[in-house]
Amino acid sequence: MSDRKGMAMPTHHVSEDLLLAYAAGTCSEAEALLVATHLTLCPTCRERAMEYESLGGALLDEMPVETVGDDLLESVFARLDDPAPREADRPDSRSRRESASVAPRAERPDGILLPRPLQTYLDADLDGLPWASLKRGIDQYPLAVSGGPARAKLLRLRSGVAVPAHTHAGTELTLVLAGGFSDDRGHFVRGDVAFADEDVDHRPVADEGEDCLCLTVLDAPLRLTGTFGRLLNPFLRF
Ligand SMILES: [Zn+2]
Repeated sequence: MSDRKGMAMPTHHVSEDLLLAYAAGTCSEAEALLVATHLTLCPTCRERAMEYESLGGALLDEMPVETVGDDLLESVFARLDDPAPREADRPDSRSRRESASVAPRAERPDGILLPRPLQTYLDADLDGLPWASLKRGIDQYPLAVSGGPARAKLLRLRSGVAVPAHTHAGTELTLVLAGGFSDDRGHFVRGDVAFADEDVDHRPVADEGEDCLCLTVLDAPLRLTGTFGRLLNPFLRF
């Protein structure tokens, strides 16, 4: 499958749990940014998110105000087996849905189409950002997200560069925006989301021929595991 730009559709998606949390508005801002950005590139998840939001909206409509709260997510879960969700296509003015469904902005001078949810976090073109070098060929730019422990940053890997082997104290979500990378779990290209946690010790390598730009969301610092990594650890900012 391919979209109108001839790019491949994502084959690695956000988890159902995260999509549901996004639709219910219970995930962190950093996670919401990653999901919203993935949704601009993934019609499959976009459709599911809209279904969840419709379900949540329908539940809100029929619940007395005082019962809406922590029970909502549970109720949404309970409704997922419902074969005919009510008002599945009811109009909804949530800005998040709009931002998730609009097309990416026009192509930038650097040739990379940055989805709109991400645009609002950037004051400058990619080349104008104050990138910090992590090591030769790897740059990062932290994004100003608030409301929760998770951090978001842009990561730029030069063509062919390997990220030092590392594992994770918590979870790491990586959304590819341009180029691609591989690790022992597979090959990830624009729109794909890679999930890693403390059980994953990996050494991602950027594809040859094109720089790889990613949005990463971490809820705890990385733990570098290679020889070089152990030396670098004290300098790796979460
Ligand atoms: Zn998806």
